Amino acid sequence: MVKQYDLLIIGAGPGGLSAANEAAKEGLKVLVLEEHKEIGVPVHCGECFSEFSAKKDQLRIPSEIISKKVKGVRVTFPNGKRVLANEPGFVLKKDKFEQWLAKTAKKSGARIWMASKATDIEKVDGGYEITSLGQKIFAKIIIDASGANSFAASKLKINKSAKTVLGVQYLVEDIKWDNYLDFYILPKYAPYGYLWVIPKENNFANIGLVSKEKGKKAMDNLDKFLDYLTIPKKNAVKTFGGLIPTSGPVPKTAEESLLFVGDAAGFTSPMFEGGTQLAIVSGKFASKVAKKAIEKEDVSAKMLLKYNNLWKKEFPDYTKLVKGKNAFYKLNKKELDEVADLFPENMTKVGIIGIFKILLKIASKKKHLLRKGVMHAMKTLKYSRAKHYGW
Ligand SMILES: Cc1cc2nc3c(=O)[nH]c(=O)nc-3n(C[C@H](O)[C@H](O)[C@H](O)COP(=O)(O)OP(=O)(O)OC[C@H]3O[C@@H](n4cnc5c(N)ncnc54)[C@H](O)[C@@H]3O)c2cc1C
Repeated sequence: MVKQYDLLIIGAGPGGLSAANEAAKEGLKVLVLEEHKEIGVPVHCGECFSEFSAKKDQLRIPSEIISKKVKGVRVTFPNGKRVLANEPGFVLKKDKFEQWLAKTAKKSGARIWMASKATDIEKVDGGYEITSLGQKIFAKIIIDASGANSFAASKLKINKSAKTVLGVQYLVEDIKWDNYLDFYILPKYAPYGYLWVIPKENNFANIGLVSKEKGKKAMDNLDKFLDYLTIPKKNAVKTFGGLIPTSGPVPKTAEESLLFVGDAAGFTSPMFEGGTQLAIVSGKFASKVAKKAIEKEDVSAKMLLKYNNLWKKEFPDYTKLVKGKNAFYKLNKKELDEVADLFPENMTKVGIIGIFKILLKIASKKKHLLRKGVMHAMKTLKYSRAKHYGW
């Protein structure tokens, strides 16, 4: 007999696990399918998570899953100018963090099947049938939390236009760093992207990049970045990475009996492309709507579209911000340095008035930058703060 669930979630990443926990707490019969044998493995993330996000999501992160506490973010421009924002956060042990989320979801009553890849999906009356390990499972609602290569979108041929970039990084040993996350805007090594040093415990760090270049070219640039930082290549003990959605939310995040969360919905921050918090929050929203739909025995598109209202109210307007990011990455080195020089070295306390002054300077003294869409770029940079889901 076909097993029946209220809610079936594809993928046990932060988005799927947050949805599973919330829905199970609300009394839904929940199953999560995860293709890997172990939750959170392999890690495909820089592992940063802001304190703001943890507080907002009421996550009391146990100390044993924190690799390092950081004081904030520093951005280095091509001319070496460094702009700092003090906003504390964590470098997580991301595998352990996801295992902790899974334990919490299981305690709430969700079932998680490991090594259980979803291989097919078929629309049936009142829901969907999913195939995994040769067996069919029915659910009234499916949450696709399968990451950047959204399973349901590719099988059902929806949302196929989502753009992605490849993020690659080394785990580097024997590196002394202070307690800041460092992001570098260096088009020489990361055209249309950026690079990072994310310090971890015991003098380890994740050092990586996203750029428009892929494969060997991206890896060569990562090696050059190690040279720039004067870190010997032999200290790179592991290479890892993954795809990151970059074009903002997908056209359809809700359909009859189907919701998309996290990376599968295209939710990553436009500037620094963090997505863990967005996945957790969208997972919660999706399960809230799923609970209502099942209670009312109405899994229609109209009912599930309430999910869109929730995320649109909470998340920034990504269409505008993606435009700003594109404008920013089109600036050449000289223009990026001009932008850098407009910022104070410490942005922590720069509020609306400070930003307004910067914009005024651009309008009066840097008119040529206006033509390059710098106003849009400044807006996107402003939204790279934790409180705007920026990292
Ligand atoms: C190099 C890199 C660095 C990053 N750094 C950061 C960072 O520092 N901070 C941050 O906030 N974000 C970062 N991100 C983004 C972050 O990792 C993602 O936004 C986040 O993991 C999204 O969570 P998710 O649950 O939507 O998807 P995922 O974490 O991708 O989880 C999807 C899960 O679905 C499973 N799955 C996929 N298909 C199937 C299937 N058919 N059947 C069953 N299971 C399936 C996968 O195995 C996986 O476990 C980074 C990403 C990359 C690539």
